[in-house]
Amino acid sequence: MHAMHRPEIPIIDLIRNPEHPLLSLEFFPPKDEKGMGQLKKVAQQLLVTHPNFVTCTWGAGGSTHRRTLTVCEMLQTIGFPPIMPHLTCVGESRLALGNIAAEIYNHGFRNIMTLRGDPPRGESTFVMHPNGFKYASELVLFLKNRYPDVCCGVAGYPEAHPESESVEEDIRHLKEKVEAGASFITTQLFFDNALYFSFVDRCRNKGIDVPIIPGLLPAISLKQVERFTNMCGALFPEKLAANMRKVGGEGEAAQQVGIKWCADQINELLDSGVPGIHLYVLNRSNAALAPAVMDCFSRKRPLGIIS
Ligand code: FAD
Repeated sequence: MHAMHRPEIPIIDLIRNPEHPLLSLEFFPPKDEKGMGQLKKVAQQLLVTHPNFVTCTWGAGGSTHRRTLTVCEMLQTIGFPPIMPHLTCVGESRLALGNIAAEIYNHGFRNIMTLRGDPPRGESTFVMHPNGFKYASELVLFLKNRYPDVCCGVAGYPEAHPESESVEEDIRHLKEKVEAGASFITTQLFFDNALYFSFVDRCRNKGIDVPIIPGLLPAISLKQVERFTNMCGALFPEKLAANMRKVGGEGEAAQQVGIKWCADQINELLDSGVPGIHLYVLNRSNAALAPAVMDCFSRKRPLGIIS
């Protein structure tokens, strides 16, 4: 890899600027070259939203490792601000994770979304590599020991992680990730802001004091929301479901319902003073570019401010 890249700014330094809530966008690595070409086009369209940082997921089972880094390099070349690769513990030894981390670091990336990861497709439980890590907190500690200047983000679950017995237990483990050195938290998607607000309250009560960025999915269809909420255990509000059913559940009209719902969530969250909004754009540009969504940000955050 190219060791000459300039180190990127740690995202926590951007988040600490309280005047302008941040916008971050999450991509995933496409399966093939054609998908990569399409993602490049989408990413170029999304430049006008002036995201403060963008992230790229680490494929389930580590299967798309090389592609995650290829996407990050592509995003860097088209001019995005800090790029945050995700990294998971799935299927990798400590030695391998050390090598991957070195590759990420040598490329100039200084931000890593640090996760345990989901089991590979077709498997239902996470099995740690015999020489690997069981929890994301261990990977945070490992990365921070090697690279103290790397800013680690971690995942938080307003409705508790599906494997946790309770929100309280999950928050206890979330605190371990912060104590291991995580600088900020991005949440799992949710469709009811009340869940985020009570999650933040509980975190603060337990002494978690790092920024907690709400993660939102601009929904495109009834089926899509059903699939995602089943997968991650998030609540699918009856009102959103009913609004989508009213317009047939699919197609342009359903997407407009999803965008409107997301814009309403963003407006309320920004008014409450959140540090930023993370959009699960799923390699599409239409939701983030929709006037309803763009307007939310221009109200609070003059475009053109890329810290
Ligand atoms: P952890 O924080 O390790 O938690 C996993 C479970 O273990 C939780 O139930 C937790 O409460 C419990 N736990 C933690 N520590 C302990 C302990 N010491 N003792 C007992 N129990 C403990 N998945 C991917 O595969 N690739 C991605 O790129 C990706 N990106 C994501 C980005 C965000 C913002 C979010 C919210 C999720 C993402 N995921 C991704 C999904 C994530 O990998 C899964 O939700 C995974 O099941 C848990 O990962 P984690 O990092 O939250 O794990």
